[in-house]
Amino acid sequence: MCGIVGYIGYREAYPILIKGLKRLEYRGYDSAGVALLNKDSNLSVYKSKGKVKNLEQYCEGKDISGTIGIAHTRWATHGEPNDVNAHPHYSQTENIALIHNGIIENYLTIKKLLIKEGYSFKSETDTEVLVQAIEYIKKRYNLSLFDAVKRTLRFVIGAYAIGVIERNNPDVLVAARKGSPLIVGVGEGEFFLGSDATPIIEYTSEVIYLNDEEVVKLERGHQPLIHTLKDIDVQHETSKIMLTLEDIEKGGYPHFMLKEIFEQSKSLTMCMNGRLNTELKEIKLSGVINHIDKFKKAKRILITACGTSWHAGLIGKYLIEEFCRIPVEVEVASEFRYRNPVINPGDILIPISQSGETADTLAAMDLAREKGAFIYGVCNVVGSSIARGTDSGTYTHAGPEIGVASTKAFTTQVTVLIMMALTIGRELKTLSEQRYKKIVTELTNINSKIEEIFTLNQEIETMASVFTYARNFMYLGRGYNYPVALEGALKLKEISYIHAEGYPAAEMKHGPIALIDEEMPVVVVTPKLRTYDKVVSNVQEIKARKGKIIAIVTKGDVDIKKMADFCIEIPDTEECLTPLLTVIPLQLLSYYVATKKGRNVDQPRNLAKSVTVE
Ligand code: GLU
Repeated sequence: MCGIVGYIGYREAYPILIKGLKRLEYRGYDSAGVALLNKDSNLSVYKSKGKVKNLEQYCEGKDISGTIGIAHTRWATHGEPNDVNAHPHYSQTENIALIHNGIIENYLTIKKLLIKEGYSFKSETDTEVLVQAIEYIKKRYNLSLFDAVKRTLRFVIGAYAIGVIERNNPDVLVAARKGSPLIVGVGEGEFFLGSDATPIIEYTSEVIYLNDEEVVKLERGHQPLIHTLKDIDVQHETSKIMLTLEDIEKGGYPHFMLKEIFEQSKSLTMCMNGRLNTELKEIKLSGVINHIDKFKKAKRILITACGTSWHAGLIGKYLIEEFCRIPVEVEVASEFRYRNPVINPGDILIPISQSGETADTLAAMDLAREKGAFIYGVCNVVGSSIARGTDSGTYTHAGPEIGVASTKAFTTQVTVLIMMALTIGRELKTLSEQRYKKIVTELTNINSKIEEIFTLNQEIETMASVFTYARNFMYLGRGYNYPVALEGALKLKEISYIHAEGYPAAEMKHGPIALIDEEMPVVVVTPKLRTYDKVVSNVQEIKARKGKIIAIVTKGDVDIKKMADFCIEIPDTEECLTPLLTVIPLQLLSYYVATKKGRNVDQPRNLAKSVTVE
């Protein structure tokens, strides 16, 4: 949530910052702002409510010169999204400007102290407190900006990634992080800051990942100087980022979401690359194999995640319990972390997060580690906090996911969980070799089946136009497809703003059936599985109450096809792999319903990608 960008070097900062903000806009779009420091020591702050393009309009005709600057796209936590609350924030004297991603939990305490010292505040944000406090500490103890930032942050409770510049200090940009993501790009004679690598890759692939409670001084003509808050000098090697510009651009699609839906066969290939040997029909997941004893001894596996990743986690439970016979509990991270869960040494915790920065998932992971669990991370972003905080893990390698509604992250997470369950089950011998080979063989064919589903795109689009009237949707599924029903409902509500609920199909009779009438579309996700006949009965019950049925069935289905108003036929596959196929028509359905209603699917209201606040 929220994107921050920074630049110090020899080029004009403004175009770099604006382009960076556009790349990061998926993280927050309540407001945008930029601070620039030019050679005449003018520290100008321009900010504007709404999208980056509003900021650009606002800046037209203004002095946008300067080779050092910081910029921000906000996802408001404290104070409504308006011009005043937008970042950057000035200090009292307007000598310092700061951008911030995160939440300062003790901001009220600090604010009261500063008010007593004569400081006044323009915004309602927690962030303004930080910049004022830095100025206060700097003056009071006669410190450099770098030292003042360190000293101030020692008192701060909460999460932050910040960038700070100072009027009379045109050669220095200071940044720091704790709990919120921040990457430093290292170019030739220039440095960049970004919440992720997307604003940086056009200029350099060399980056430094800061750790929590580290502060960096980026000074022209010097190497980055990194200190902990306690003044300890830290050395970080630079890492290489592998992203390409093509990865983060729309590539001819009208929206990132559609591009990412259609990328799923490619992202699954990347995910399985080097792990699934298509000739030998074998999976090599080194993260698991290197720690197989932990899995062999585990009495329990806990999976924790938020949103779409939680749905993938639920599928993980079905997979691991079926193939490995290890009990699995799945819990949303925000609940897990605050309820004092029972975690025993030897338990394994699998945090799942696309960004690897999800605040609640990170906190759940830290809690479990303290209690002695072995942490096996599943995330997409290389070098993210989760990736760096685990004992072992598997990257999903989905490539950058920019659409706020998660699509390819989900299918790659499920693929990783499938590969994990198959690997562990084979090692534990709870899965027969014959079954293992059968599923692995099927997994090698899954991409061609996904491609086959894409040929239904037009059909799904036409079907979607029928349902733009709906105010409610219900999604039903069983077994492996129950979490898919939840995911389908989430996808629809987040981008179309139509209320939608997912249920295990048989639960319908325990309440939701009361909602069904001729207005209510019910999406039934029911490929030919163990429970198929049971779902046929559920469909009959819906039909009897005049509900509109959209069925996702296996090709050649006859029973449900007769009853459904619309039928999307997917290729047959192993039951445990069906979520990889059934979810795709649901993603497309949501996409088309939302776009036909005129929604901004890549930046739906109130949402932002990568939830880095609690
Ligand atoms: N808490 C800050 C605010 O409300 C920063 C939010 C963000 O990360 O965008 O302005």
